[in-house]
Order: sequence, then structure tokens, then C-alpha cells
Amino acid sequence: MASDFYALATPGIQGLHPYQPGKPVEEVERELGISNSIKLASNENPLGPSQLAMEAAAASLKDACRYPDASGFRLKQALSDQYGISPETITLGNGSNDVLDLIGRTFALPDDEIIYSEYSFVVYMLVTQSIGAKAVVVPAVSWGHDLEAMAAAVTDKTRVIYLANPNNPTGTYFTQEALHSFMKKVPEAVIVVLDEAYAEYVSETDYAKGFSLLADFPNLIVTRTFSKAYGLAALRVGYAVANPQITDLLNRVRQPFNVNIPALDAAAAVLTDDDFLQRSVSNNSAGMSQLEQGFIELGLSWIPSVGNFITVDCGEDAASLFEALLLEGVIVRPVANYKMPNHLRVTIGLPEENRRCLEAFAKVLKK
Ligand SMILES: *Cc1c(COP(=O)(O)O)cnc(C)c1O
Repeated sequence: MASDFYALATPGIQGLHPYQPGKPVEEVERELGISNSIKLASNENPLGPSQLAMEAAAASLKDACRYPDASGFRLKQALSDQYGISPETITLGNGSNDVLDLIGRTFALPDDEIIYSEYSFVVYMLVTQSIGAKAVVVPAVSWGHDLEAMAAAVTDKTRVIYLANPNNPTGTYFTQEALHSFMKKVPEAVIVVLDEAYAEYVSETDYAKGFSLLADFPNLIVTRTFSKAYGLAALRVGYAVANPQITDLLNRVRQPFNVNIPALDAAAAVLTDDDFLQRSVSNNSAGMSQLEQGFIELGLSWIPSVGNFITVDCGEDAASLFEALLLEGVIVRPVANYKMPNHLRVTIGLPEENRRCLEAFAKVLKK
């Protein structure tokens, strides 16, 4: 080939390293020639999808020859009923990654500044780089967001701030009081994105409630997803909630049919499945205690988490432990790409999966 097509790409894309997903079970088993492995690597819901969601998705397939409802009318109505938010404030996305990306592209140009925290969700970095904007990464405190320092980092070039609450991969959270005082400091011309991917799992009473601040802070965008507690990661549905002007802008950038028919119908159905959500949350809190107890017995420490995962400090470079766990059929998530080489992130599984995970840790730590 005569041309160097890499050289033709925009500078942001030239430097981009694609998102590294958790290893799929099938791939691990094929590569290592093992079977019966368990995946605790991508913060998926271990209960499987809700029965109601599966039925709705299956029933929707008779309309697979049609384009989906580009306005997502029924799902927005269901979200409106559930949370008391107006449909004209909702933007649906192909997963919340989609809306996180839309927001960056809507508000930031190359050389504008985007602020996010050290150790925060990698997608903020990917969005920033792909735009060619300047990443302003604010050092974390105790693995969590330093909201005061983040507010102080705002300049007249800042367009967007991404916050994750709880944060992935650390599981940390910040309070309503902290968020409120942060929002008061940030100028209205700076868009604040509050990523609440794990909100449904949090039971702490001081946990910030993003929806409750939307009325007072028109520059706030709250994002949520059906991928985690609602158990629909494969179907790709998430959404942003923001004032109607911002929502109108996001809808201009959004691909018209970005959420497919099974996804729209399954998401609307699972919103009505309180029993499923409740079982998901209680399995999670029991599993969190089970893993914490196990880690105590193994002499390991971890970052206290309010999500559906726990990030454990292996006390040494974790790459070889990760490989050894794979050979035991336990897939967890290395977080060296977050500059946390000694940690592994473990998704809370079913009781039996947690037990197997702890057994595998015990075995490989002895070697
Ligand atoms: C998993 C996750 C998401 C959700 O991604 P989807 O695209 O909705 O599947 C968003 N933010 C954070 C912090 C996450 O961990």
C-alpha cells in the first residue's frame, strides 16, 4: 500500500487505544482448553436477565423487519413513570457509553478541556481523545473523586466534566452534600456529566441523588444504564437525563435508530420488574459480604465499594495472578490500564461463583 492511512486519521484517533473489554468466557476456554469457567470481569448481573425482559424482547422480534421507534416513546414514558422525570429530558443511547460519547462530541472541540478523575471510568478518556480535546485528569483522594480539586481545575476552556458515582473501577462514591457544593462552584457554561451506572446498588443514605439536582442545575446531565442492575448488558440501552435544550442537542447528534426494538421493549419491561431488581440488589450485598469476608481470611485488602464489584489489592503486580486465576477458570479484570497494576476488579457473582473465586484466589496466592 502506498498510503499510510494511519497518518490520515485525526491526531486524537491516531493516539487512541480501543476499549479493552473483559475476556469473554468462550474465548478464555478456547485459548486455555478449559471448561466450566466463570466470568466475574464485566460487572454483569449474575442472575441473568429478568424473565419479563426476555419475554418482551422475544415478542418484539415479530417487528424485526421494521425500524425501531426513533423517539423511544414507550421506554421514555416508562422511565418518566418510574422516576418522575419528563420524557422531553431523556436521551436514549446504545448503552450509556453512547450518550457519554454524544455529550463529549456535542460540547467539546479539539483543544477544549475535559475534566475527569484519576482512576475513573476509561470511557471518559476515550471520548476526550477521540475528540482531540485536552484531558485534565485530577488526582484522586482515597481512590475516589476529589470534587473540590475538580471544581478548582475548571478554566475558561473547560467544556465538560465527567463524574462517576459510584466510580468504576474503584467502587467509591460521593455524597449529596459534596455534589451539591461542587455544582454550586462549577459555572453554568460547563456541562457536568454524572454517570450513575451503578446507582441501583447503592444503599448508603448520604449517596448523591443526581435526579434531585437537575431542577437547580441546568448544566447537569445524569446518565444511567440497563446494563448493570437491570441485567441487559447485551442489548445496549442507556440514557441521559438533562434539561430540554441539552436533550434537543443530544438528539441532533444521536444516530436516529441507536436503540433497537428488543432493547427498547426489554428495558421498558424490566423497569416494571421490581422483584428482579430487588433480588439483584440483595444478591449483590450478600455477595459483597461473602467476598470481603473471604479476602480478610486471605489477608488481602480492598477498596470499599458500593457497586457490584470489588477491587482487591494483591500486594504485588497482579498480572500473573490474573493469568493463574484464568487457569482455575475464574475470569476477573486486571486494571493495570488504570495505573492500578496491583489490583484486580472482581464482579460480585452468585454465592457459588464467589466461593469458587475465593478458592481460586487461595490456591494461586499459595504458589
Ligand atoms: C458499565 C459502565 C457504564 C455502562 O456502560 P453501558 O454502555 O451502559 O453498558 C457506564 N459507566 C460506568 C462507570 C460503567 O462502569
